[in-house]
Amino acid sequence: MTSRRVAGVKPFQVMEILARAQRMEREGKRVIHFEIGEPDFVTPQRIRESAVQAINRGFTHYTESAGLLKLREALASHLEFTGRRFDSNSEIIVTGGVSQALFFALASLLDPGDEVIMTDPHYPCYPNFVCFLDAKPVYTSLTDDFKLDMEDLKEKISSRTKAILVNTPSNPTGMFLELKELRELAEIAEDSNSYVLSDEIYSGLVYDGRHRSPSILETGYDKVVMLDGFSKLYSMTGWRVGYVVCEPELAAEVLKLQQNFYISPSSFVQHAAVTALECRDEVRAMLDEFARRREYIVGRLQEMEGFKVKEPNAAYYIFPDVKAISEDSTKLSSYLLKEARVAVTPGIAFGRRGEGHLRFSYATSIENIKEGMNRIEKALKKFS
Ligand code: PLP
Repeated sequence: MTSRRVAGVKPFQVMEILARAQRMEREGKRVIHFEIGEPDFVTPQRIRESAVQAINRGFTHYTESAGLLKLREALASHLEFTGRRFDSNSEIIVTGGVSQALFFALASLLDPGDEVIMTDPHYPCYPNFVCFLDAKPVYTSLTDDFKLDMEDLKEKISSRTKAILVNTPSNPTGMFLELKELRELAEIAEDSNSYVLSDEIYSGLVYDGRHRSPSILETGYDKVVMLDGFSKLYSMTGWRVGYVVCEPELAAEVLKLQQNFYISPSSFVQHAAVTALECRDEVRAMLDEFARRREYIVGRLQEMEGFKVKEPNAAYYIFPDVKAISEDSTKLSSYLLKEARVAVTPGIAFGRRGEGHLRFSYATSIENIKEGMNRIEKALKKFS
């Protein structure tokens, strides 16, 4: 008998769509991928070289459990945009990506029966983390503009609310929260004595001329947990490195979990992460390319019949409402994969209120986007 706890974990639907698309590719069919949530760029050369150098210099051992001090200090400097200087010894812990940071942070906070409020739609893994810890996800809706619905959020607060989990910029909507909204969120959390966990993994991927999206750390509220990482902005998904910033008491608990269950993040990867923080030009080049793709895909989807598009301002996702074509996003995405050989993620994968939407990731070349859009247009003419 395997564990009942693990039996309750739902499969990650994006991976299942990817597996189906890959089966088709093995049969020799060319599939256009809009389902994959990772940058298609190779990690910038300077970062790769830095890892190789670190390996050759013998950085192949465990590091301090909290991560290399050099990286934590670089992160403390990086975080100065918040107007605060975080203590690299007690408030910053380097992790194996945001996924692991989130798990350890939630595990350090939650008791069985506690409630965690999150948006619907949300990143699909969130409820799994919470349920795994015998806590309960409670869903709050978004406004039509994909903003937090503050009134609904207040209604969802109960005596069991332990934390509010947000993702800004958001997967799947591609929208970020303004500082004003984050301040309002922090006030709601403060009134109910709950934590705010803010997953900011897409923080630097913004397209409205700003350097980055606002961070929960700028609100000054102290019961916050900010999670960020290198996967997306630096095109380092396979390197598995992220970090968590929170008050010392909670950080000490996270550290205990890390010591026991992970020991330390990879040594040479952390050396490369220090270099990544210096790679402004390389990041700019990737962002410029994402911006071109965003403009193109937004234009094409806006022209397509049945697609209601809200122009995203961050990450590399677009989440059009397709109810005019089908209320059943699973059926529609299966049809597009079979008929058009275009892989997109059904909105329902992101929660009940994601139904009637499709999520496109434009982390693929303009040529692929063009081909994908042409195929969808053609296939939808025959859809019934
Ligand atoms: N959080 C969100 C919202 C994501 O979309 C993803 C990956 O797609 C992750 C976290 C995972 O981040 P990491 O690669 O740092 O574990």
